[in-house]
Amino acid sequence: MGIMTTITTTSLTNLLNFDLPGLIAYCQELGEKPFRATQLFRWIHQRGATDFAQMTDLAKSLREKLTAQARIEGLKILTQQESRDGTIKWLFDVGDGNAVEAVFIPEDDRGTLCVSSQAGCAVGCRFCSTGHQGFSRNLTSGEIIAQLWFAEHFLRQHLQTSERVITNVVMMGMGEPLQNYSALVPALKIMLDDHGYGLSRRRVTVSTSGVVPMMERLGQDCPVALAVSLHAPNDALRDYLVPLNKKYPLAELLQTCEDYLQFAPRDFVTFEYCMLDGVNDQPEHAQQLIDLVRQYGNGKAWCKLNLIPFNPFPQSGLQRSSNAAVQRFAQLLTQAGIVTTVRKTRGDDIDAACGQLAGDVKDRTGAADRMAKQRTIRIHRAH
Ligand code: SAH
Ligand code: SF4
Repeated sequence: MGIMTTITTTSLTNLLNFDLPGLIAYCQELGEKPFRATQLFRWIHQRGATDFAQMTDLAKSLREKLTAQARIEGLKILTQQESRDGTIKWLFDVGDGNAVEAVFIPEDDRGTLCVSSQAGCAVGCRFCSTGHQGFSRNLTSGEIIAQLWFAEHFLRQHLQTSERVITNVVMMGMGEPLQNYSALVPALKIMLDDHGYGLSRRRVTVSTSGVVPMMERLGQDCPVALAVSLHAPNDALRDYLVPLNKKYPLAELLQTCEDYLQFAPRDFVTFEYCMLDGVNDQPEHAQQLIDLVRQYGNGKAWCKLNLIPFNPFPQSGLQRSSNAAVQRFAQLLTQAGIVTTVRKTRGDDIDAACGQLAGDVKDRTGAADRMAKQRTIRIHRAH
């Protein structure tokens, strides 16, 4: 008989991974009532607590149990950069040489956090720097919510306020959120929970390159606002720009978008369209796009177009459309009755604009070296 060896790891359960029902189940295992879990959940997400000893309205015995078995642990911050325009970008270490980014975008009437869902991305869109890195791994629910948990409580301190700073979340950072569905949904539920961040469904947006079956499930499980990365008005061009189109072509994708409207918190779906010089920005593309969206929605205005001037990055081999081309394209859509906006570029001086998020994955572009150099966290105090 061999000798039995038990490998004991001191892995404490990270409570950031639980949505409220999950935390209730966890507390039940500890012999605690559901309302205790709610109190704990509020400490974590509403107060940003990390230390169980702080939670003075919980019984001492429970605090001791939690200290022995659980932890509230965010992500390690590698860098923090602040743009001239107030945009703040954080680079978080997610282990094994992988890092992901979150970006805070302050505006007059809101504060938006752009959140990552994966380290890298497997979809491989031509114009996206994350896509060029390839896929490393899915984030856990805890790693997704940790970005909001950290940013919200950091900003409250930074701005010396006890009020909510982040009013909107967009899943538009690194990764394809609907290819990490099982981790995404609990994280979204924490954002929406009144005991969590209390964001309304219309202020939480999932952006997807078009994972059709998961769009259908999201409508059932957690119908938040939906943005779909379209980028091309015909299948040949979209196959080239967004390779996932070969699996879920435009007819299927647009039908799914139309169907989503019955669950959506708003009466439209947003299409994102990255404007690439000479590739998808010509008047004939605008006309094809108009013809395409008119095939759906029963003659109603059912979608909005958000044009994103391409943000260049090394090795893309693509160029940003001229302002004139963007304006002409927008005008053609508007004249056809499609509500069209042009996304303002924010934070481009710190590479925080759409598609520039390159938190980077090991072995691909020397991320480890760069991270090592950037380990000093620069914190800009309120001016
Ligand atoms: N994977 C999801 C969400 C992350 S990307 C998706 O593709 O929708 C968020 C948005 O930025 C998408 O619309 C994406 O197409 C766009 N984007 C990616 N790279 C870009 C770039 N270099 N310039 C402008 N927009 C870009
Ligand atoms: Fe992935 Fe979105 Fe980038 Fe495409 S645009 S590669 S889906 S992150």
